[in-house]
Amino acid sequence: MLESNFQETKEILRSAIKDHIDLKITTGLNIAGTVLIDLAVSQGFDGDVVFVDTNYHFSETLSFFAYLKSRYQSANFITLKPKAPFEDGYLIDPVACCSQNKVEPLEDFLAATMPSAILNGRTRESASTRNTLGALEDGNPIRLNPLYRWERKDLESYAKSYDLRLHPLYSQGYLSMGCWPCTAAVKAGEDIRAGRFVGQGRTECGIWTKTKPPAQEA
Ligand code: SF4
Repeated sequence: MLESNFQETKEILRSAIKDHIDLKITTGLNIAGTVLIDLAVSQGFDGDVVFVDTNYHFSETLSFFAYLKSRYQSANFITLKPKAPFEDGYLIDPVACCSQNKVEPLEDFLAATMPSAILNGRTRESASTRNTLGALEDGNPIRLNPLYRWERKDLESYAKSYDLRLHPLYSQGYLSMGCWPCTAAVKAGEDIRAGRFVGQGRTECGIWTKTKPPAQEA
């Protein structure tokens, strides 16, 4: 791992924690999210860690969330659920299913809590659609991407060095975690997010690309 990347990440996190008392983390429990939570807590983060339970997650994902909650007790782990679940929506209209079961719960939460900034674990390497990602995306809330320059090898190196337990399916090729009907293991040489929304012609659920948290593009 480049030491300069590591130091930059820690500086972003320290500044964010100092400047945003209402700072929150959103995570899908991928390796980057796991590293982000560990690093943020190590720098003093004690805010909300927000996860959207669409009702279609692998059981391993739910048990991993419970494990993280028990490991990082200084943070406040929150599970969001769809208010009006679109049952079996992935069979009928996957985009609407994501919108109703995943994006809307987060939008509602952001509208209710109005955080000034949110941290997330997106990296440039994870998908071609993210290769221009920067450390900060202005808006309300500001989106901070402290790991934007980290590569998979950096994340794995950190996880090994700091004895992090990863999502149980990561070692089976699930490099990016999503719902069980729409997520497959990644083959060698494929993008990290190649296993997401297989056969649907997309790699994003809409949280970061299509939705609009209060007064800004998300
Ligand atoms: S990833 Fe699939 S199951 Fe999950 S919310 Fe989106 S369409 Fe529905």
